[in-house]
Amino acid sequence: DEEEDHSPSKKQVTEESLHSQKVATHYNKLQEHGLAERNKSRIVHMRNFNNWLKSVLIADILDKVRRRRREVTVLDLGCGKGGDLLKWKKGHIDKLVCADIAAVSIEQCQQRYNDMRRRGHPNDRTFSADFITADCSKELLSDKLRDPELRFDVCSCQFVCHYSFESEQQADTMLRNACERLRPGGFFIGTTPDAYELVNRLEVSDSNSFGNEVFRVTFQKKADYPLFGCQYDFSLEGVVNVPEFLVYFPLFEEMAKKYNMRLVYKKTFKEFFEEKVKDEKNKVLMQWMQALEQYPPGEGGQLASDSLGEYDHAKRVAARRPLGTLSKSEWEATSIYLVYVFEKMA
Ligand code: SAM
Repeated sequence: DEEEDHSPSKKQVTEESLHSQKVATHYNKLQEHGLAERNKSRIVHMRNFNNWLKSVLIADILDKVRRRRREVTVLDLGCGKGGDLLKWKKGHIDKLVCADIAAVSIEQCQQRYNDMRRRGHPNDRTFSADFITADCSKELLSDKLRDPELRFDVCSCQFVCHYSFESEQQADTMLRNACERLRPGGFFIGTTPDAYELVNRLEVSDSNSFGNEVFRVTFQKKADYPLFGCQYDFSLEGVVNVPEFLVYFPLFEEMAKKYNMRLVYKKTFKEFFEEKVKDEKNKVLMQWMQALEQYPPGEGGQLASDSLGEYDHAKRVAARRPLGTLSKSEWEATSIYLVYVFEKMA
């Protein structure tokens, strides 16, 4: 009798489906707040820092790609509401495919893209874009692409991969979606919590949980960290997020080899920041983002090009305005993450 079958595999399948639904429902429900509202939040500096980090990472990678190719195609895997659209515009890419499990987020992402196109200068060529709603840990994107021959130069997977480490198969499908359509020499880049950091902090805490007034991580138990399905709850500003799963990076690296991926680097956010902020251009971008955080000019008013005029303007604005910095609590939250870059071998 089907109903009576309580075999572990069946139970696991049901729980996995439930988790996917939870992720989609959670992100679909999240309200899109305007810039002014976002700037009131206690984690505004942290959001800005994460945005700066992604901007620098994306610009660096697009620089590398452009040395080899004129036309650049990108896959934004787990794109959410399109928080990185401006970064792709600034990087002058040609084509973007956005994919996410949350249908409402994909709609908002598409809306944002349409607005961006409409607002742009007539001579300002915006990349073309496709939008796909899919559970990328279970469905193959290649079945859903408009052009089945499409190849990517970059796959960007920002704050997403940890949702797929519920099972080996899901993690593998996510990696397959990220990497199988990359051109040789193409890059798979992303950000994810660092299992070492999470486990170290948990082990020195006297409970199953650690955190501060801006974030909290709660494990079900200590001292047992399976490679897949090691679940923890993550809450930010008191709002519990959907459960996440530990990503043990050496395993991630090993699994990526199946798709011919070579690790170029893995850095903690701290290491990445300390290295990249030495570059004057990145430092100015950081100051500019901090200045905007206090004096927002409205949605979409971010530094949208590298033109010298804008760069000089940013420098002048940044020099005039007092700068905000990450609070200790924000830094404790963001320093959980790491950034990785893989390259597809020939
Ligand atoms: N990448 C965006 C950014 O950096 O702003 C959004 C990051 S948000 C923390 C995580 C995103 O991953 C959400 O939009 C969520 O819907 C998406 N996601 C989680 N699991 C997914 C899955 N299995 N397939 C596709 N998207 C997924």
